[in-house]
Amino acid sequence: MFDNILCQQKIKKVLLNQIKSGKIAHAYIFMGQGGVGKRLMAVELAKNLNCATNNFTKTDIGACGRCVSCEKVAKNIHPDLHFIDFAKQAELENEDLEKQKILKIETIRYMQKEVATKAREGKWKVFIIEPAEKMNLAAANSLLKTLEEPPENTVIILIAKHKETIPKTIVSRSQTLFFQPLGQNEMSTWLMLNHSLVPVKAQEIAELSEGSLENAIKLVNEKESEGFSSIWHKLKTQKFYISDLLELSKNAARRDALGCVDSMMVEAKKEFRIYPQGAALALDFLNASRAKLLQNVNAQTVLDNLFFDLYDLSNN
Ligand SMILES: [Zn+2]
Repeated sequence: MFDNILCQQKIKKVLLNQIKSGKIAHAYIFMGQGGVGKRLMAVELAKNLNCATNNFTKTDIGACGRCVSCEKVAKNIHPDLHFIDFAKQAELENEDLEKQKILKIETIRYMQKEVATKAREGKWKVFIIEPAEKMNLAAANSLLKTLEEPPENTVIILIAKHKETIPKTIVSRSQTLFFQPLGQNEMSTWLMLNHSLVPVKAQEIAELSEGSLENAIKLVNEKESEGFSSIWHKLKTQKFYISDLLELSKNAARRDALGCVDSMMVEAKKEFRIYPQGAALALDFLNASRAKLLQNVNAQTVLDNLFFDLYDLSNN
């Protein structure tokens, strides 16, 4: 159970025991730094509570992962799993996601309406509030009312990074679970499996990530984009056979075509002062490729053409 979440054994044990004994808390606070599995754990809890086939009194297996309910939770389309977050708020207010800086009382009120309605498909309704520390006072006071009269078969999970920022009145009505930084060995194994890193690289990144998978993934991406900028310089300075050029674009497309175009754009802009004409042409190619990628044109086709164009540009 909770096998897809790294570390956090104590928390898994607490939740498992609660599910088995039917003593689920009405409200939890999942507390801890970014990238340690808080949101994932909340989703897995929702999955376990609503799985149609599991039987916790007989096994420890937990959610089956295959029934309709488990699949809907995994795809984030289960009607009884609600994310009360900036994305939801932006949708409710018809605003840009970037504009959302605090969780407002209107968003909590929307949640309360959902809390008051019956579960649609599952046994349990699960509400995940994130980032809970960004609720303003009005929102927190409003939430408090729901916590004071907890509805049946409803779990509210607050996800937060800092305990001080959650009002004490809310903390006292919730069960707080503290998420620890992830272990380096577990992270490095995960990086090898999921990002095909060689052991030395995986270990190096795990050491630098301060126990956060979020940091680790950022570092992996940075390393990858360093690789992309070197492609730019190769195209400008090396001689290529067509087959090598195609191999290069195939690899880049497989890794992250848009990331590749974006980091090449950074390089092209750097050259603007020295070779304005060449850089302008290169930027035209890059912009056109970017637009095609955003329109879901096949990534490899886009990069094949782009790499040929850029190579031509430097060799004419
Ligand atoms: Zn299931």
